[in-house]
Amino acid sequence: MRLYTAARVLTGDGGILHDGGVVVGGGVIRAVGRISELPTDLEHVDFPHGTLLPGLIDAHVHLTMDGGPDPVSELRRTNGPELLDTMRSNARALLDAGVTTARDLGGYGFLDIVLRDEINDGIGHGPRLLTATRPLTSPGGHCWYLGGGCEGVDEIRRMVGEQALWGADLLKIMVTGGHTTPQSKPWLPQFTDAELAAAVAEAHFLGMPVAAHAHGVEGIRAAVTHGMDTIEHCTWQTESGFDGYDPALADAIATAGIPVCGTFNPLLARDEAYATERRRVVGEMRRRGVRFIAGTDAGIRDTPHSAYATALATMAGYGFTPAEVIRAATGDAAAALGVAGSTGSLAPGRDADLIAVHGDPLVDLSVLAEPAVVVTRGREYRPERVAGG
Ligand SMILES: [Zn+2]
Repeated sequence: MRLYTAARVLTGDGGILHDGGVVVGGGVIRAVGRISELPTDLEHVDFPHGTLLPGLIDAHVHLTMDGGPDPVSELRRTNGPELLDTMRSNARALLDAGVTTARDLGGYGFLDIVLRDEINDGIGHGPRLLTATRPLTSPGGHCWYLGGGCEGVDEIRRMVGEQALWGADLLKIMVTGGHTTPQSKPWLPQFTDAELAAAVAEAHFLGMPVAAHAHGVEGIRAAVTHGMDTIEHCTWQTESGFDGYDPALADAIATAGIPVCGTFNPLLARDEAYATERRRVVGEMRRRGVRFIAGTDAGIRDTPHSAYATALATMAGYGFTPAEVIRAATGDAAAALGVAGSTGSLAPGRDADLIAVHGDPLVDLSVLAEPAVVVTRGREYRPERVAGG
């Protein structure tokens, strides 16, 4: 058993304990409380000026992509077994960034399953992975090169069934086109209503939640209509720009309780017009009760897996307070991904997923960029720092 203590403990559900600690043993959290209430005859790791909080959650990553200048070409060049090594190093980079749970929303060759199981078995190093394997897309559609092209109700049912047989944790559907595939139009739907209904019914029957990649308004509407479980991106994109925000549809998202993973990474935020409109629309959606969770799209261009904290700063730039960002990255994300019983909060019985940072992230989110310690299911890591990073 080990005792971690710090000046403050953020429990992940909005709670704060001053001079608090967490007792970890056998891979799970045994106790959480004020230091004065906890046993002291344990191995003790103290962060007298620091903060303990739940391990962070990235609800949207691509381990097959390297986050460099041209990840898709790189993936197509190295799509053999060596791709697994790239994925292992990306998983380790996430862990070093404090991420103890990551949802991989677009794998290749079912290698995400291999890596997930390596990590679960304790022979690999990385966050708990929730794997979607190949995302369903139209033939030649967004991310077709990941192998998920399909068309027609029967073929879609077969594809979803195969994902489950391989051991996928969830289904990802490219409901609309996307940005990283030439010829793909992000504002246009890729499937018919009958196809989407079949995919969702089959996935839910097989116990898999459905993540809807949706930029365009029609796709966002389809995600709500068909009862998909999370909406990714949700940029309200039209042919003319990011100008399709529909308040009534935002109300429908809120009423249905579908969490939105806005993939708030710095890439699109570089465009000032986009960022200004995004900030306005995200604020509007939140006022209407839409819940956002943290996810980065790590792996896409200029979005390395090590840069998780940068994406949280981007999220803050869209109007979230540090406390709201932290909840979106811990307790709320865990609830949205269906793993709140295991992670996302510091409470007895949860898996021992926690990080320690120097300073107070409620005052300065940037302290999350350099966790001093990362504990994932009880295993303690001291993050490796990239030289000069
Ligand atoms: Zn993505």
